[in-house]
Amino acid sequence: MIHDYVIVGAGSAGCVLANRLSADGQCSVLVLESGPPDTYPWIHIPIGYAKTMFNPRVNWCFYTEPEPGMNGRKIYWPRGKTLGGSSSINGLISIRGQRQDYDAWAAAGNPGWSYADVLPYFKRLEHALEGDRAFHGTDGPLCCSPIGRKHELIEAVIAAGAELAIPRNDDFNGASQEGVGYYHLTTRRGRRCSAASAYLKPARGRRNLEVLTRAHVLRLVLDRTRATGVVFRRNGEDVVANARREVLLCAGAIQSPQLLQLSGIGPAALLASMGVRIVRDRRA
Ligand SMILES: Cc1cc2nc3c(=O)[nH]c(=O)nc-3n(C[C@H](O)[C@H](O)[C@H](O)COP(=O)(O)OP(=O)(O)OC[C@H]3O[C@@H](n4cnc5c(N)ncnc54)[C@H](O)[C@@H]3O)c2cc1C
Repeated sequence: MIHDYVIVGAGSAGCVLANRLSADGQCSVLVLESGPPDTYPWIHIPIGYAKTMFNPRVNWCFYTEPEPGMNGRKIYWPRGKTLGGSSSINGLISIRGQRQDYDAWAAAGNPGWSYADVLPYFKRLEHALEGDRAFHGTDGPLCCSPIGRKHELIEAVIAAGAELAIPRNDDFNGASQEGVGYYHLTTRRGRRCSAASAYLKPARGRRNLEVLTRAHVLRLVLDRTRATGVVFRRNGEDVVANARREVLLCAGAIQSPQLLQLSGIGPAALLASMGVRIVRDRRA
């Protein structure tokens, strides 16, 4: 099995990359997702996250180790396990990072990361139904909708904020993020707009895009320190998927580092204690 690009994980990042990389119709792209297709109806109903929050059918349901700072408790750490990944089970809140954080990253020596640099990408991904066009896009795949129904209790909270000089803000992704108000939701006509609905679904008909669900990647195939493919397990069989150009690790904040570690890239002492052959000693 050989493709130009092999994408591990069809979550938020994986779905965007699958769409963009296959858009030219030339490059062949393989997406490997460990979870099932996103056919569970509650994924698509915004309030359905109550049904997916603890549901192993579409959620990895991780727990941390006992946390000293949490009185030794293990803390629940949900992550999506289906097409769309965590964007299929998340709280749908559409609030970007804070301008000052991006600017601080750029000032720390990271060109391209200032708010002015990233704003065009935020606009490009967005189909905003409301908001100042200086900050919002209208042609992107990800639909962002205002909360239609105003509630008197929420209005009372907002009014209370005003009494305390906390300004009303009807657009946290606009000129200022400060204040109190209704946030926008990643919904389209009342249904969840996950990364899978926004980016993957429209691309599924492309002949150069192959998406395999219930395909769990076990490790990277490395040529010295270069990833040339992956080994994945599907229907009880281990299969090698080779990449002519790149392997894109999009398995999320927990499982991307885990896959690197299973492939021998990580803290040497930890890998040795697990019996993993060390390829690169990388501190956590
Ligand atoms: C409960 C919850 C609520 C949230 N609420 C909000 C919110 O309101 N607003 C907001 O902006 N963000 C929210 N987030 C965060 C947001 O959803 C995530 O930051 C984002 O989806 C992460 O994208 P990702 O591509 O890094 O990972 P994910 O979207 O998690 O994708 C990783 C994918 O990789 C797959 N995978 C993992 N390991 C393997 C493997 N070995 N082989 C193959 N596939 C694998 C997983 O099954 C998953 O589909 C929330 C997240 C959660 C979990």
